[in-house]
Amino acid sequence: MNIHEYQAKTLLKRFGVAVPKGGVAYTAGEAAAVARELGGSVWVVKSQIHAGGRGAGHFANNPSGKGGVRVVKSVDDVSKNAAEMLGQVLVTKQTGPAGKEVKRVYIEEGCDIKRELYLGMLVDRATGRVTLMASTEGGMEIEEVAHHHPEKILKVAIDPASGVQAFHARQIAFGLGLEGKQVATATKFIIGLSKAFHELDASIIEINPLVVTGSGDVIALDAKVNFDDNALFRHKDIEELRDEDEEDPSELEAAKHGLNYVKLDGTIGCLVNGAGLAMATMDIIKLYGAEPANFLDVGGGATKERVTTAFKLILSDPNVEGILVNIFGGIMRCDVIAEGVIAAAREVSLHVPLVVRLEGTNVELGKKILAESGLPIVSGDNLADAAEKVVKAVKEAA
Ligand code: GDP
Ligand code: MN
Repeated sequence: MNIHEYQAKTLLKRFGVAVPKGGVAYTAGEAAAVARELGGSVWVVKSQIHAGGRGAGHFANNPSGKGGVRVVKSVDDVSKNAAEMLGQVLVTKQTGPAGKEVKRVYIEEGCDIKRELYLGMLVDRATGRVTLMASTEGGMEIEEVAHHHPEKILKVAIDPASGVQAFHARQIAFGLGLEGKQVATATKFIIGLSKAFHELDASIIEINPLVVTGSGDVIALDAKVNFDDNALFRHKDIEELRDEDEEDPSELEAAKHGLNYVKLDGTIGCLVNGAGLAMATMDIIKLYGAEPANFLDVGGGATKERVTTAFKLILSDPNVEGILVNIFGGIMRCDVIAEGVIAAAREVSLHVPLVVRLEGTNVELGKKILAESGLPIVSGDNLADAAEKVVKAVKEAA
């Protein structure tokens, strides 16, 4: 799960991570009020969407205009720029061409930037360790830096037995060329960050840029936090930060029903029980020359209602040209699946070919229910047969 920049900064602040003062606003009027309360003479108006590259992005209604992060020098300009952003679609390298609508802006006190650095913390799959990553090339995409100048990325893997220690933090600070009191400030920053990472069950925290100010402070100018979804159950307060406007509507609907659904780009919708079987089903669809439209695991104890929901989800994807149901009835009974499939097919008035492969508990009864339904359901004898049939049916229909 992702959260907005302003939410990330509020969380990080609790762990002693230095961030600029700021406040969120949903209207231009609120933005001006936040600016007045912050005081000072320079503010930054920042579009809040779950994507980076906002500064270098553009608004769909004004492609040659300014981006989603703007430095302004009067309260009037705060409200004017907030008004230009709110309700408009911001397109960045990370949003893709469709962009994302800005519904909130963050108003921050201006910052006197001397250096822009990069600091990240993530689970490094290669070493199997939580790793601190830093670079002197802040403010730009770290993937680009990693690609063109891998030598400019400093990595420190953390032994889980020790956790982040001051010496790890100093190694990063010296590696970034910090000096004098900046080293102590950065050390405090990094230790706070790693505390946040562990206690919040984050999977990534990225500070880009981490800045050194004119007065030598080290603060987070941007913050991105991803959480481990499997640990969210113990962070109800974080779960409440979820912004459903930022999430894929079909994945959100799936999560509400306990379905593991991931939308993909192909044309064959898959409804499968068990993640391993779902992967195998996707593979075999590819083997027979088509692409899966989704990954969907209905789980072991799916009910008729859950199967119906799963079916509707698959069909809500306009790219779906055929559906393959592949169920191994172990805990799940094939007759229950058959009833779910029929109920769903009737409810959504199925308009694409449907191939069903059932195996396991009550398989004969399941097949009988399907055959007697009067619906144009093709039965697959085994996985290969079913995949071949659905791919063929889609090609014939095209
Ligand atoms: P991103 O483009 O989505 O990654 O958004 P950032 O929050 O990283 O902002 C992009 C850039 O705007 C930063 O790299 C800074 O150069 C600039 N920026 C952000 N906040 C301030 C600020 O307070 N003062 C100044 N001068 N520049 C800022
Ligand atoms: Mn950034």
